[in-house]
Amino acid sequence: MSISLTSSLIVSGVHGRQITVPTGLFIHSEFVPSLTGQTLTVDNPSTGDKLGTISAAGAEDIDRAVQSAKTGFDAWRNVPGPVKARILLKLADLIEEHAQDLGSLEAVDAGTLFTDSIGLNIPQSIACLRYYAGWADKMDGKTLEIDGGFAYTYREPVGICAAIVPWNAPLMITIWKLAPALAAGNSLIIKSSELSPLYALKFAELIKEAGVPAGVVNIVTGEGASAGQALSEHMEIRKLAFTGSATAGRKILQAASQTNLKKVSLELGGKGPSIVFDDCDLENALLWTRIGITANNGQICAAGSRIYVQDTIYERFIEAYKHDAASTSTVAGDPLDTSTTKGPVVSQAQHQKILDYIQQGKKSGARLLFGGERIGNKGYFVQNTAFADVPDDASIMREEIFGPVASIAKFSTEDEVISKANDSLHGLSAAIFTNDVNRAHRVTKSLETGQVTVNAWAMLNANVPFGGVKESGFGRDMGEEALEGWTTVKAVKYHILPRL
Ligand code: NAD
Repeated sequence: MSISLTSSLIVSGVHGRQITVPTGLFIHSEFVPSLTGQTLTVDNPSTGDKLGTISAAGAEDIDRAVQSAKTGFDAWRNVPGPVKARILLKLADLIEEHAQDLGSLEAVDAGTLFTDSIGLNIPQSIACLRYYAGWADKMDGKTLEIDGGFAYTYREPVGICAAIVPWNAPLMITIWKLAPALAAGNSLIIKSSELSPLYALKFAELIKEAGVPAGVVNIVTGEGASAGQALSEHMEIRKLAFTGSATAGRKILQAASQTNLKKVSLELGGKGPSIVFDDCDLENALLWTRIGITANNGQICAAGSRIYVQDTIYERFIEAYKHDAASTSTVAGDPLDTSTTKGPVVSQAQHQKILDYIQQGKKSGARLLFGGERIGNKGYFVQNTAFADVPDDASIMREEIFGPVASIAKFSTEDEVISKANDSLHGLSAAIFTNDVNRAHRVTKSLETGQVTVNAWAMLNANVPFGGVKESGFGRDMGEEALEGWTTVKAVKYHILPRL
């Protein structure tokens, strides 16, 4: 779409805050309109109402961002580590200072509960920046003995990099890429999701205020098929870090293979198993299996969407799960309101997709325990929903729904549940509930997944790597391991000449 654009728009945030959001692309530390005049319309998923119109980048804008990133990289790679660290720490402080605005924008744009944004996503973003600030002066290598001399290795930045991010927890996932990328000395072009771009524009202002030199971070808003594709194909981008769907991930990998073979990391979807053994603390398992599929309306890649319960406690678990759902009051409504406990899902398309899966669940022979309907007729709200006795081959057991839909089934032995859990294209995150430490070791070792949480669900820590196996992708965010993706190793060999 191409329409005339104001330079900023005003969004109403929490407690009546009026938040000014720039509408341009953040290129070389300035907000500029797209060269093609293309725009994106941004909606509020609580109401379906329009929030405003912003610029949408095309291939020419991506090229402009790359030219800026080139000068950014030349400057940033030579900035001493401690100075980089100070800038990252300053950015963390600014996010803390502007948390109310950033949380409000995630709420009105992505439908994230303001309380979740403030209580989880923003503190995680801050912790991640502070963690990688600590790495900025610790990019060490090794010294190695070789015949007739010695060698040493050191880590160099990859160069001009890009990150394409999704709409769920958008600030946090952006920081998962930005913090290690900058600590390692790269310049970065970020493309936010067309479904939740506003946080990124506010965040761009903080990038400038933190003293990040022009060109080190460029932020573009735009569609996946145009801006995202142009980033994937660009010959001068050396690395692309992606979080999103497998469909887009495949296109990115294909574009990279047909252009400059840029380094790609893919953080894709999941269908996480939560395994409840009969020796667990049942109250604890009930709590986390509920949170695991209802947090952010199940729109979490690590969601515990398949719940396997041992047959000896199956009916007891089901009754208690139903009872918990009935006795936990759900307040659906405006995610900005701090008393709301259920916001909308992100878009009309996502809403319809979830309702379609629920229909498939109803026809699959599974037992509907609760939920199963939309809430109200305005905005994109869906009831928390659970099915029991879900057949192994039902679509709701096999496919990522990305909604608040739990699929529960029973198992009898440890071997059986390991085989069920691993019978999936995905392998991102799993949870197990048991008080037997030996069983916990055996099962975690046998699960094909990037992360397992014992007696809780999907905890996130800046110092612990997160990422998947199988079709959940490859590469890691967070932890020391993420730095591998944002650096290359150079080996230098010295041949020592004999004394003359
Ligand atoms: P999506 O793939 O539709 O979009 C993600 C991003 O990719 C957006 O910025 C979009 O514009 C861009 N994109 C779309 N098509 C593209 C293309 N052809 N080329 C380049 N970029 C393109 O995903 P989504 O709906 O925003 O997010 C939901 C998905 O993300 C789910 O599958 C979820 O599991 C996954 N996810 C994974 C993680 C993880 O860490 N593994 C975290 C969050 C979300």
